[in-house]
Amino acid sequence: MDGFSIKTAKELYGIDSWGAGYFDIDSKGYLSAMPTKNVKSSIPLTQVLKEAQKKNISTPILLRFPQILHGQVQAINNAFATAIKEYKYKNQYTPAYPIKVNQKKSVVDAIMEAGYSNSINIEVGSKAEAVASFALKLNKKAMTICNGFKDKDYYNIMATGEKLGRNMLAVIEKPFELDGLLQLKKEKKAIPSLGFRIKLDAKGSGMWQKSGGSASKFGLSMSQLLQAIEWLKKHDLIEHLKMFHFHIGSQITDIRKIKQAIREAARVYAKCKKIGLDLEFLNVGGGLGIDYDGSKTSSDASVNYGVQEYANDVVYNVLEICNDEQVSHPQLISESGRFLTAYHAVLLVDVRDQYHERYINPPKFKKQESKIIQDILYIDENMTAKNFREFYHDSLVKKDELQAMFHLGLLSIEDRSKGEWLFWAIAEKAVKYSQNAKYIADEFVELREHLYEKVVCNFSLFQSLPDHWALDQLFPIMPISHLQKKPTQKATLVDITCDSDGEVDKFVDLKDIKSYLDIHQIDDYKDYHLAFLFVGAYQDTMGDMHNLFGEVNELSVTINKDNTMKIDQIYEGEKIKDTIAIFDYFPEKIINNLKNKNLTEKDESDLKKDILNYCNMYTYLMD
Ligand code: PLP
Repeated sequence: MDGFSIKTAKELYGIDSWGAGYFDIDSKGYLSAMPTKNVKSSIPLTQVLKEAQKKNISTPILLRFPQILHGQVQAINNAFATAIKEYKYKNQYTPAYPIKVNQKKSVVDAIMEAGYSNSINIEVGSKAEAVASFALKLNKKAMTICNGFKDKDYYNIMATGEKLGRNMLAVIEKPFELDGLLQLKKEKKAIPSLGFRIKLDAKGSGMWQKSGGSASKFGLSMSQLLQAIEWLKKHDLIEHLKMFHFHIGSQITDIRKIKQAIREAARVYAKCKKIGLDLEFLNVGGGLGIDYDGSKTSSDASVNYGVQEYANDVVYNVLEICNDEQVSHPQLISESGRFLTAYHAVLLVDVRDQYHERYINPPKFKKQESKIIQDILYIDENMTAKNFREFYHDSLVKKDELQAMFHLGLLSIEDRSKGEWLFWAIAEKAVKYSQNAKYIADEFVELREHLYEKVVCNFSLFQSLPDHWALDQLFPIMPISHLQKKPTQKATLVDITCDSDGEVDKFVDLKDIKSYLDIHQIDDYKDYHLAFLFVGAYQDTMGDMHNLFGEVNELSVTINKDNTMKIDQIYEGEKIKDTIAIFDYFPEKIINNLKNKNLTEKDESDLKKDILNYCNMYTYLMD
């Protein structure tokens, strides 16, 4: 026995710290999901995968758990209700879902359904999102908050929304947007309620902190705010102004930054209320973060607070400032997209291969090898804990010699391959010896990283994990089975795009950022799958079509009280014909080209069938 247990596996992957009560390792060593926190039912992801395979749905598969979306809506509503009660806040809170965080209709529908009775609002940031929002079922009281820069058409869309019975609210991001309101007035169209996005001095923290502070792209400075108020008064539109809004960035890692921003915004709100504005809402934007690595710190992949502390701080600070200024408490709104969506989606990928020189079968050495091979063999056989550093350096010289001899035509390809195989064996030994040394020299730290397996996984980083590629954002990643056994391999994950950037080489860790993932060494990786967790926020919408790998297969899964599961919806991933069509390649045109090729009728018909068949294939690797 190696002393490895489920408990050790939980510690190794940190799941108790980041699992958020939604994910755990079960007693058989499977990663399991518990989408309903209150009713403790759970399902191993391997079981979901098996059900999918029965329906011929192959990996990569994105699993969506609508029950998690419900749970998150409930969690934020409960947190604010608790805070409002505790501090005796004299108004209410309603969330707004910022649709840009994940526009998938099924996702938005689940959120809207969960928040319906609490009049959850929707936030849109463009004309397209505004039009899409008309398809959603909103409570009569709910607002459609329209952020983003606005032109005449955007205002017309809002006027249509009003006609459809929606409560449209335009958040003015920049002074130039005001003019569009005059057009509506002139054309006697409905004027939406208005909000001002205020540019705060306060900044966020973490990777998206540029969204806040005085140099941010959005919002009205204090003088612009006053001028805009005058402008509204002058044009008899001031009674439409109902909301102040701010957003200092997504994934705010440090609660102090949130407090500062709230206090500043509440002060601006209260001062404007005092000069007679009929404001009703204070919208604190997004930024409520997720603890991706479970460290509960202000590092980029974490947050040093939870949803209850966030709600307490919003409620308490607004209350204190409003009491101080003797104005009534505003209705509170937050646009917490990441918090609502991140947990609900899990990407399952299959592991295809691992490639490292030393996993190729060892070569057979002859009694009489060439001199260079003999020299390298000597280093390999005689390396010890005392001489490993010197012998490793010798092997580097021999490796250069080996290459030079090959380039000069003095060495056979067999000898070159033997020498290279030996070099990697020596490197591995040297790394092992270096781990026991008091001080690990940088060169061995680097060498160790170089020796990690690169396992090929069937996915595209650019399509499924764009924020890891663009921003090094970390996501919890782990195997979904074999977790009762000790993982003995350290690996980075390479995707199947033809791009060397397509690699995950940073992983969550409680104390650090890991440069490898612990995976199991097994002979056949056919049934070995990895889960990329918390990919429900922003990844769907930001993903791109690099190498024409398209959207992946999707399943929406619910779990019953008796631990059985139901696949509610299957959304087939994009086929080759779908991804090529985006760039103007069409099956019919490809088939038309066959006509000029002087083919027999039979060949032409067979090729036509082949091409149509290819066009209907999933873009990812299949068995
Ligand atoms: N509101 C606005 C105006 C935003 O720009 C964003 C995203 O950056 C959000 C809300 C959502 O933020 P988060 O996902 O951090 O809650």
